[in-house]
Amino acid sequence: MNTFSSAASRPVSIAALGECMLELQGQAFGALRQSFGGDTLNTAVYLSRCGGPGLRVHYATALGDDSLSTGLLERWAAEGLQTGLVQRLAGRLPGLYLIELDEGGERRFHYWRGQAAARSYFDGAATALEEQADALDALYLSGISLAILPPAGRERALALMTRMRAAGKLVAFDNNYRPRLWDSVADARYWYQRAFAAATVALITADDHQALQGLSDLDAAVTAAQALPVAEIAIKRGALPARVGLNHVWQDVLTETVARVVDTTAAGDSFAAGYLSQRLHGAGPAESAAFGNRLAARVIQHPGALIPREAMQDLMGS
Ligand code: ADP
Repeated sequence: MNTFSSAASRPVSIAALGECMLELQGQAFGALRQSFGGDTLNTAVYLSRCGGPGLRVHYATALGDDSLSTGLLERWAAEGLQTGLVQRLAGRLPGLYLIELDEGGERRFHYWRGQAAARSYFDGAATALEEQADALDALYLSGISLAILPPAGRERALALMTRMRAAGKLVAFDNNYRPRLWDSVADARYWYQRAFAAATVALITADDHQALQGLSDLDAAVTAAQALPVAEIAIKRGALPARVGLNHVWQDVLTETVARVVDTTAAGDSFAAGYLSQRLHGAGPAESAAFGNRLAARVIQHPGALIPREAMQDLMGS
C-alpha cells in the first residue's frame, strides 16, 4: 500500500460515500429543530476538521434539486467538505428522520428514508466518484452506505472498492449495522463478507459485529473480528481499549477516561475519522487509534453527532 505522507506535495484526498439525512428533533406536533446527520457524513466532517489543509475530504451521495438539498450542500461546504461528487437528482428528496423527545427526555427515532435520493447514487451512468477515483487516495464507506443501495448499486460500490484497492489506495469499510435496512441477516452477511474482502481497513464496532454474526458475547465478536480477511483492523468496544491490528500484529489502545458521558451519538463515526486522519498522514495504527479515542471521548461529552468546533480546537489539523 502507498504511504500517505503529509510531506506529499498535494493534499491527501478521501471520499466518504453514503447518506446524510435531514434531522428533525422535538415533540410530536410541537416545535421541531432542523439539523442533519448520517454516519458517513459525521465521519467526513470530523475527517475534515482533524485532517487540516493536508487532507481534502469529499462527500459522495445523491440529493434532490430542492431547497433542503441545497441547504445541506451549503452546510457541508461550510464544514470544509468538497461537494463535487454529489449528484443532484431532479424531483428527488433527501431522507428524513425525527428524533422524538418524550416527556421524560427519552429519544425515539423515526425514519422516512425509503425513497431518499441517496439510494439512487449509482442508478445512472458513471458517477463523478467512479470517474475521479484514480485521483483519490482513499475511500470510506459503511454497512449503512451499502444497505441503502439496491443490489446493482452495491455491485458498483464493491467494484469501486476493488478497483481502488488494486491501485494501492486505502479502502476503509466501517461495519455500522442497522438490521432494519436489510432484507434479512443472511443478505447483510453476504454483502459484508464481500465488502471486507474488498477493503484494506476494517473499522469494527464489536456490538455490531456480534449482532450481524449472531455471536453469544462481545469477546466472541472481538475474536471473530480479528479473523476477518482484512490487513488492517480497528475494533471498538466502547470504554474498553480499542484493539488495532496491522498484518496480524495486534495492540490494545486505552480509551480516555470520561467522567460523564452526555451522548454517544457518533462515537464510532468520530473514532473512524480520528483514526483515518492520522493514518492518511502517515501515523501508525496505535498512534492513530489513540487519536481516534481522544476525539471520540470529546464527542461523547457533548450532545448531538457534530460537536461545536470550539470544543475540539486542540484536535483540529493545522
Ligand atoms: P459505536 O459508536 O460505533 O457504537 P463504540 O461505542 O464502541 O462505537 O465507541 C467508539 C469509540 O468511542 C470507542 O472506541 C472509544 O474511543 C469511544 N468511547 C465510547 N464510549 C466511551 C466511554 N464510555 N469512555 C471513553 N471512550 C468511549
